[in-house]
Amino acid sequence: MKQQYIKGIPFCSLEYKQVVHILKDWLSEKNEKPRFIVTANPEIVMSAKETASESVHFKNILLSADIITADGIGIILGSKILNGQLKERVTGADLTYDLIEYCNQNSYRVFLFGAAPENNEKAIKNLKINYPHAIFQGQHGFIGKEQIEEVKDQIKQFQPHLLLVGLGSPKQEMFIYDNLQELNVPLSIGIGGMIDIISGNVKRAPKVMRDTGTEWLYRLVTQPKRIKRQLVLPKFLLSVIADRVRKTAN
Ligand code: UDP
Repeated sequence: MKQQYIKGIPFCSLEYKQVVHILKDWLSEKNEKPRFIVTANPEIVMSAKETASESVHFKNILLSADIITADGIGIILGSKILNGQLKERVTGADLTYDLIEYCNQNSYRVFLFGAAPENNEKAIKNLKINYPHAIFQGQHGFIGKEQIEEVKDQIKQFQPHLLLVGLGSPKQEMFIYDNLQELNVPLSIGIGGMIDIISGNVKRAPKVMRDTGTEWLYRLVTQPKRIKRQLVLPKFLLSVIADRVRKTAN
């Protein structure tokens, strides 16, 4: 698979349609092996770049993924700075809807783990209405450590084809990594706040903003608390520019 490294993270450089094609194949190969997809934004890249042991562990988790996609305009800009080949975003949000649609066409089972209880319930309710042929089960994400085993049992019994984990990073990637073999789900993806969006309680940016790469601005205006998190973007770009300068100097 074509890849481009940005700050040590190997991004898949295929176009969106090609990635969806591969993921659909993986979903169908029920007994092949469990696969793990990461949709990474600059925040994820930056939290895997430090030398502290948690960062190193997180980076190893990312490197174990079957595909890492460019989730966000920041990664595409980073690729441009490095003269790389990443052309378009392959976001968790778009993948979530396309894969659920595919599960609907094939009457597959989909498990949603994460978000506040009312959002998880409402998301499941909406999905059941909009994708009547797929089979959904949900579990909210505000549980204690002692309940993790119960959630795992729930997932194992349900035997989903697709596991969507919306606990935020790095929690969601850690959960998938730690339990990948045991849960043995064909395809697992960390989807951040998507369950809130599916529930209808949080709105996604208008299409024009998504298409122009300004979704981050919408999120900033509607959720000003994110300012601290979004400051990672300029830090990420500066850090990539520094890499580029070093590369040119060598
Ligand atoms: N969340 C959760 N359990 C937790 C912490 C967070 O289920 O212990 C959920 C939270 O309710 C939200 C999602 O994880 O639905 C994280 O959303 P965020 O906006 O941080 O993710 P992003 O889309 O930015 O990756």
